[in-house]
Amino acid sequence: RPTVVVVGAGQAGAEAAVALRAQGYGGRVVLVGEESETPYQRPPLSKELLAAGGERVDCALYPASHYPDRDIELLSGERAEGIDREGRTLLLASGRELPYDALVLATGARPRALTVPGAGLAGVHTLRTLSDARDLRSRLYGARDLVVVGGGFIGLEVASAARTLGLDVAVVEVRDRLMGRSVSEPVSRHLAELHRRNGVRVLLAREVTAVHGEERRVREVELDGGERIAADVVVAGIGAVPNTEIAARAGLAVDDGILVDARLRTSDPAVLAIGDCARFPSRHGLGRHAPVRLESVQNAADQARAAATTVCDPEGGADYDAVPWFWTHQYGVRLQIAGLTAGHDRTVTVGDPAGGRFSVFCFRGERLLGVESVGRPADHAITRRLLAGSRHSLTPESVAAPGFDLKQQQL
Ligand code: FAD
Repeated sequence: RPTVVVVGAGQAGAEAAVALRAQGYGGRVVLVGEESETPYQRPPLSKELLAAGGERVDCALYPASHYPDRDIELLSGERAEGIDREGRTLLLASGRELPYDALVLATGARPRALTVPGAGLAGVHTLRTLSDARDLRSRLYGARDLVVVGGGFIGLEVASAARTLGLDVAVVEVRDRLMGRSVSEPVSRHLAELHRRNGVRVLLAREVTAVHGEERRVREVELDGGERIAADVVVAGIGAVPNTEIAARAGLAVDDGILVDARLRTSDPAVLAIGDCARFPSRHGLGRHAPVRLESVQNAADQARAAATTVCDPEGGADYDAVPWFWTHQYGVRLQIAGLTAGHDRTVTVGDPAGGRFSVFCFRGERLLGVESVGRPADHAITRRLLAGSRHSLTPESVAAPGFDLKQQQL
């Protein structure tokens, strides 16, 4: 019986297994995941699950019965160690061997570790897994001072959740603005104001140089210049590193992600890679079809379906071309991003920034790269559709013109 083996039972891996069945794949589907939990979603880990009352949040992606009902063999708590490409066999740490016809790598990413002196003290956390989130939650309950290192998506969501628990929170960001890799300057500014209004100490262009403790527990964080701030919990949200080792050991092409083509095939066409671990050509990036690696639920889920199509229909099917989109919730405010806005050189803001409802249209020259919307879900939905096509006529001039109405663009 032909067999697809999927490595990594996170968002991308679980969705790929489910999509194979939804698309009519009749062979064996084996889903191998090193975590012991049934596949779950990560977005709630830094939001609802940490906030007050979060212990009741259920993060499961599907009910446990979903997998056996679809004849998907879910092997939890099993780590894949190696790939015998010639023999088309996946080797597990347990010694088990799984022959495959197609292999899908969905190994995700892991948090970049804080490397300053003292980073190994108890109370210094990163956040990726359900077990990380439970540890952090139990540490936050009863704590007083949280220092978040890194003003990106995860750090800011943790800061927001910790405020609902009543902690004193400081965010230390090495760049001169929050979420500098992900959003435009007006949105960064808005977020900084939002956090300050909610009582967070936002320290920009500052660097954490050491963590100090007593009896192996964190007590203070030291910044450049020697200033020390109180901390009984530290969360480092300083980026993620793709899990590419298994691919590299098998001789597959890797460069900050497992390199894949537009059908999500690695340098070995029997092996695909999807989700946070994969780097793929995208027409939505700055350089047309330049390889990008994205960390989002949209990307994981859409690539899972596209990989299933590549497996089911290797000659047919279309290139992966989904419009990237992202979201974050902080203090009940919803920021949504359509497209890849990094590298823009012009922005046009519409709406009411002071009232907390606005969208920033990001252009490179005349080309619309994406739109960042705060409290304007309709702008987000429409621009996602416009970016999916190629015939919209949005330019910096048309968006800035008096009477501009995005809804008119929907044709
Ligand atoms: P993962 O979900 O990380 O799954 C990979 C799995 O593979 C893991 O379970 C890992 O243990 C396993 N694995 C790795 N190597 C092996 C091996 N050798 N053998 C067996 N198993 C292995 N995205 C959004 O769009 N919106 C959000 O609001 C949002 N919030 C987030 C909040 C947090 C706290 C985090 C951590 C991420 C968030 N993301 C969000 C990002 C999103 O969750 C990821 O992009 C998505 O989970 C990627 O799916 P993936 O399957 O590629 O990786």
